[in-house]
Amino acid sequence: MKQVIREILGTVAFATRTEDPVTYVIAQPCVDLKDKACIEECPVDCIYEGQRMLYIQPDECVDCGACEPVCPVEAIYYEDDVPEQWSAYTAANVEFFDGIGSPGGASKVGLVPKDHPIVAALPPQQSEEH
Ligand code: SF4
Ligand code: SF4
Repeated sequence: MKQVIREILGTVAFATRTEDPVTYVIAQPCVDLKDKACIEECPVDCIYEGQRMLYIQPDECVDCGACEPVCPVEAIYYEDDVPEQWSAYTAANVEFFDGIGSPGGASKVGLVPKDHPIVAALPPQQSEEH
C-alpha cells in the first residue's frame, strides 16, 4: 500500500513540474516602459529584454520574488496571481524564449530585437497611463 501511495505522489509531482514551468511573469504594464528596475534585483540574471518589454525566462527563474516589489507599475506577478486581463502573459513569457532557449544570463544576451506577438500587436502604451 505504501509503495502504491509513493508511486501516486511521485506521478503527481512529476506532472506538476512538467505542466507548469512558469514561475514569475511580467505582464502588460511593462510594455513601452522598461525602466529595468527588476533587472537589478534578480540574483540569477534571468530577466531578458525584448523590444518593448522584459520577459522572465521560466526555466532560469528561481522563484525568489525579489523582482516583484521593485516594479513601479506592478507588472510582475507570481504565476498564480496574474490578473485575469493579463492571463495571456503567462504563456507569452514562456513563448518569447522559443528559439532562444535558456541562455543562462540576460546580460550577455542584451536586447533581443523581437516581442511576443501579443505585445508586438499593442498600440503604443502611454507612460502617463502607468
Ligand atoms: S521593473 Fe517592472 S516596468 Fe520596470 S522593467 Fe521590470 S517589469 Fe518592466
Ligand atoms: S523571481 Fe527572482 S529569480 Fe525570478 S525573475 Fe524575479 S528576481 Fe529573478
